[in-house]
Amino acid sequence: MRAGVGTGTDAETLYGRLRAYEGRAAVTEGAGKDLVNEPMIRHWCEAVGDANPAYRGPDAVAPPTMLQAWTMGGLSGHSGRTAAQDELFELLDGAGFTSVVATDCEQEYLRPLRPGDRITFDTVIESVSERKNTKLGTGYFVTTRMDVRADGRLAGTHRFRILKYAPAVRKAKGKRPRPVINRDNAGFWDGVAAHRLLIQRCEGCGTLRFPWLPGCVACGSLEWDTVEASGAGTVFSYVVMHHPPFPAFDPPYAVGLIELAEGVRIVSNVVGVPYDKVRVGMPVEVEFLRVDEEWELPVFRGAQAHLGGGGS
Ligand code: ZN
Repeated sequence: MRAGVGTGTDAETLYGRLRAYEGRAAVTEGAGKDLVNEPMIRHWCEAVGDANPAYRGPDAVAPPTMLQAWTMGGLSGHSGRTAAQDELFELLDGAGFTSVVATDCEQEYLRPLRPGDRITFDTVIESVSERKNTKLGTGYFVTTRMDVRADGRLAGTHRFRILKYAPAVRKAKGKRPRPVINRDNAGFWDGVAAHRLLIQRCEGCGTLRFPWLPGCVACGSLEWDTVEASGAGTVFSYVVMHHPPFPAFDPPYAVGLIELAEGVRIVSNVVGVPYDKVRVGMPVEVEFLRVDEEWELPVFRGAQAHLGGGGS
């Protein structure tokens, strides 16, 4: 069920329910599993390569950035967790915001921690943002704040922010619009798939026709067969597309009305020459361009030899 990902009142209702969790406790009276201690400090300093002498010797303090380390539950977890955060996440999951990513962490250090300090902490759901659109997808930022105490006195705060989001649907970026293929034109596309450019020919009067149609415009006959175009043609007319932008295309590009050697005309891209060098009368040759993993199109390559000699 993804109802909440919609817009309007659903989203407002959801946001109201999410905001109700602001200020609710996520952990109450959490307790550090170990006193602040020299071995953990040494391991930390070795791991991060911090040789600061303040973290050694009889007057050592703990690196301030270890703040969260003293609160971690390890594999055996913590007691003191309330149901609030689980409920909040279930609410978001149920509304379609099923993915999660940690976005940032902010700490304040109010007093140094020293070996022997007994750590306690409380965590509160500090804020739930309005619905945000991000590159990952649409979702809500949830910020929790942990107040860390040493022997009962506030020593620092740890804010942790995550984004619960509905992953953005990846658009079929760059895919050409698909033609409508039906029984009247399927033969043409079968030809393209076989790298053959097929022209319809009326069995009644022999007139060639393109694009494909059910009947002959000259005699009305519904009987037809095909001839394979040689692929040679000339630019009968063209336009250069600059606008509007469309994901599948990379403007500017030339669209040609190509007159095939057989006499019929076809619209397609002119490739192989710069868009501003395409000219009426330019000789072209068909080729089959793979535009994406499942689609090929007949396009027309301008003759390089013709460059500079054109003109309309
Ligand atoms: Zn005919």
